[in-house]
Formats: sequence, C-alpha cells, structure tokens
Amino acid sequence: MERTYIGETGQHAGETVLLKGWIDVRRDQGKMVFFDFRDMTGYIQGVVLPNRAAEMAEAVKDARPESVIVVEGMVNKRPERNVQADKQNGDIELEITALTILNKAEPLPFEINIDTVDVNEEVRLKHRYLDLRSVRMQRNMRKRDEVQKYIRDFLHERKFIEVETPMLTKSTPEGARDYVVPSRVYPGNFYALPQSPQQYKQLLMTAGMERYFQFAKCMRDEDGRGDRQPEFTQLDMEMSFVTREDVMQTNEALLINMVTKLFPEKKIQQLPFPRISYKDAMEKYGNDRPDIREDKNDPNLLAFCWVIDFPFFESTSKSDNPDAQGQWTYTHNPFSRPIEEHMDNLMNKEAVGNILTTQYDICLNGFEIGGGSIRNHSFEALSKVFELLGHEAEAIEKDFGHMLQAFKVGTPPHGGIAWGFDRLMMLLLNEANIREVMAFPKTGEGRDPMMNAPSTISDKQIDELHIVLKKPKQ
Ligand code: ASP
Repeated sequence: MERTYIGETGQHAGETVLLKGWIDVRRDQGKMVFFDFRDMTGYIQGVVLPNRAAEMAEAVKDARPESVIVVEGMVNKRPERNVQADKQNGDIELEITALTILNKAEPLPFEINIDTVDVNEEVRLKHRYLDLRSVRMQRNMRKRDEVQKYIRDFLHERKFIEVETPMLTKSTPEGARDYVVPSRVYPGNFYALPQSPQQYKQLLMTAGMERYFQFAKCMRDEDGRGDRQPEFTQLDMEMSFVTREDVMQTNEALLINMVTKLFPEKKIQQLPFPRISYKDAMEKYGNDRPDIREDKNDPNLLAFCWVIDFPFFESTSKSDNPDAQGQWTYTHNPFSRPIEEHMDNLMNKEAVGNILTTQYDICLNGFEIGGGSIRNHSFEALSKVFELLGHEAEAIEKDFGHMLQAFKVGTPPHGGIAWGFDRLMMLLLNEANIREVMAFPKTGEGRDPMMNAPSTISDKQIDELHIVLKKPKQ
C-alpha cells in the first residue's frame, strides 16, 4: 500500500491507509491504547481498540514515544461529541490494524513535544536532531525555507542569478578577524574563510553578470557575544548600472512583498520605509540602528527604516577594526563610493574625516538587518582609499591588485547590499536569538556540542599541514 501523508488523511475517511512517521504521544487508557502520530505534514490520533488488543499486544509493547513507525488503519469519522474542531484531523481517528516499529526510541534526554525553549541549551544543541523535531523548531526551519524560496523567486523574476563563490579564499577586509585554513600543498600558506563574498560579487559585476545574489555563508572570528555566530548566512546582492536609490528600492520592495505574503499577521509601521541620516540617528537615538517602533509591546509590529549618509572614515583610535593601520579606518567597507559631492575630498587630506559614503543600512526594530553601498569602481579613487587607510603601495598591489586590475578592464558602476539573514528570521519569528532560526548553530561561545567542534586533530594531520603547535597555556 502506498504511504498517505498524515496531513492528507482527512481525504480518506472510510478507507484503510498506511502512515509513516513518529509516535508523538502514547496514552494507555484501560483496554485501549491511544497514540498521536506525527509526520512532516502534521498529527493524527490513532487507537488500538480492545478487540485488537490481544493480536497487537506484541507490537504495542515497545511503541515508545519518538519511535519511528509504519502504521496501518481505518480512517473513521469521530462521533460528533468527540470532534476536536481546533485540532488538525480532530474530526477523524485512525483505527489501528497493524503497527511496525522501524526504529525504537530509547528514553530521550528531554521532552520534545513541548516548547524546548526552557531546556538547557547545551543539551538542546548536543541533541539538535531531537530539538529540531519540536513544533517551534520545525516551524522555524520551514518558515526559513519559505522565505528563502520567496526571495529566490522574487530576484529571479527581476533578472538576478544566484552564483556560488568560494569558501577557501583570501583574507577580505570586513573588519573582523579571519578564520584561516592551512594549506598542505603550499607550506606556510593559508586560505581564509570569507567574511563575506564582497570582492567576488564585485568581480562578478566586472564579469558581466549584472545582477547577482547568493545565500552566502560568512565566517568571522569574533569573541563570543551571545548573539553572534562564527558562521552565519547573508542574503548577498550586487547590481550593475544602479544608483543608491535603485538598490534601496529593490530591497524595500522585496521586504514589503515577502512580509505581506508570508507573514500576513505582521504590520509594517511606515511605508515607504523612513530614512534617517547617521547624524540624526546618533543625535536622536544614540545609535545607528534606531528602534522607531511606536509600540514596543506589539510582537507583530515591524518598524523598518534606512540609515544613510554615514561617514566613510573614522579615526583608528576610535575603531576596533583589527586591520586598521594608519590614522584612518573605514566605517563599513573600503570599497564604498563616497557620495558624488564628496568624491573630490578623497584627494584633500583636511577633508577626509568629513567624507560621507553612499552606505545604506536597513534597520528593523532596533537591529541592523543589512547594509551595503554603491562601490568605488574607479581605479584611481580606490587606490587613494587604500593609501588613506595606511596601506603601502606594495601591500595594495599584493592584497587588492586583482580588484584594481579589474577596474581597468571594463567594470560597470555597481552597488549592492547584504542582509543578515539569520537576524531577519529571528525578528520575523519573534525569537530571542539567532540560534533559534539556524539548524545547527554553535553555542554562544562558538562550540558545537553535537559534533564536538572545535576539536584536536591527529599528529599526522598537523604534520601534513606543516604546523607546529604551541603548547596550550596552563
Ligand atoms: N559585504 C558587506 C558586509 O558584509 C555588505 C555589502 O556592502 O554588500 O557587511
């Protein structure tokens, strides 16, 4: 017999069906045994009636919650008084005629048919495959997928293509520390894991793609701050022949359409999204990711706003950017283009601190959920930026020669943005941290208790990588 999904069992009243899934709950009531069965499409109640108790005794004996089963039974309409109208399949019941356990579940480390939010997080992450079975985590993963699909379709309809960029690459300046991977073949050399696909996406514009996006994994080696993850997902985007207005409009339309379609219970506070200058945000809210919600108690209120007109440079004394070398460092991205009226100031030492960039950040309810800019695609102006940042000519050539070269062979004007996709999902799903919307996150301290990572490697591996380990500090 072919499998019927639990969510579709209602269409088979009066018929015998074969279901596959998990035992969600077991209730023994006198001579009857009740089960709630679960698959990816939902729940249904089943019952072993007293007249079958003897023949089913053996099968039922081991049928513990969370075991995987195949179950055969008759779909019966419930009598009126037993109908539970608020429950999925609340008007039917499966009269079980056969039950086979495909994989028996031992007692679990925690209950998963309740909200696991209060379970110790270390335990949840150690058994993430169980935690993910819970209703809330299933919802989060499935909603994340729906949003990703919506975004992919929206962007494809607007001539974007998704291009994958490498994981093993070279250090990129995004303001955080790199994760590095030692090369076995080139002793003493290292790849860096990307902090973002920034340079690749710009080079894809040189390559004539015109409209690129990617759900990109980004890795940043920062000290564990509760809500930071060493790896996270960006919705990364880049467009050729665009102004700041074009990129902002495209992203605003995408956010509005996606929320309206997939989160109809949400209310967007203000349309179009208000725009606030960095200066006003700092003066009025004391930060550059203002929470402009009119009602902070409303879990369904989404107050989006743009922050624009950021200073391009800040004094290194004020910055925690580990790449900062000279007197100036960039506030967001060295590849940003100053606003047109300030382009000339790149050449004027006195005016550098006053240069505003085309950078735009998108904020939601007090969180920065994305940011980007129009890029500086002029060879001379970009060289000047690196000079201002304190890079020697030789280092500029070594680190950014490929970018500068690309800007001499026909690179269109371009600009883009990247969204912190996990953070956006966290806010849309009213979750308290991004770990709740990631399938396999690390702990707040950057460990994976399930895989036990990071972990030591064998002496042979260390040797092959031409590495000598310092003795761990006592
Ligand atoms: N690469 C930048 C970031 O990760 C975003 C951008 O400018 O597109 O913040």
